[in-house]
Amino acid sequence: MDLYSGYINRLIEAFSSLPGIGHKSAQRLAFHLVNMPKEQVEHFARTIVDARNNVCYCKCCFTLTDQEVCPICSNVKRDHSTIMVVENTRDLAAYEKTGKYEGVYHVLHGAISPMLGVGPGDIKLKELITRLQTDEVKEVIIATNSSLEGETTAMYISKLIKPTGIRVTRIASGVPVGGDLEYIDEVTLLRALDGRIEL
Ligand code: ZN
Repeated sequence: MDLYSGYINRLIEAFSSLPGIGHKSAQRLAFHLVNMPKEQVEHFARTIVDARNNVCYCKCCFTLTDQEVCPICSNVKRDHSTIMVVENTRDLAAYEKTGKYEGVYHVLHGAISPMLGVGPGDIKLKELITRLQTDEVKEVIIATNSSLEGETTAMYISKLIKPTGIRVTRIASGVPVGGDLEYIDEVTLLRALDGRIEL
């Protein structure tokens, strides 16, 4: 039995497809949306479409940006010889918020997970190696999460880079196991960075 109109059902379905949104939350959001003033809904919808259409990967570090090269990569004051490797743009934002890291980043957009069928070719790893071949890089700091996937990825990257002679370090594991970097406070992030170990 269909309790709601087809439009509402489709809206609930659309919300349910988002991460972390269950059926109940999807219902609540859908009803909230159809009760909002029309102009507000149009603005909301336009914001989503505009973001999707205009956000792209930085051609250097692969973070999400609306420019060809992101503001961090195009900043000459940053130390371009130190690259911090993170799993996603949210992790980059977490380190940026500390305001203490002066190097640049490389965003993998995922982590190696044999269980989920994510291999080295599915993340921006090839792009990192290309960067190391063309840029003057002295140190690669691996700041993937301390989850099984994050550790697997860190080991894989370190084995790849080691033979090149570039210094490879891993942020200290003051970061709780399985913890996403974005939920960790700035002090802990900085301590993890300062206490990084050689791989
Ligand atoms: Zn960039």
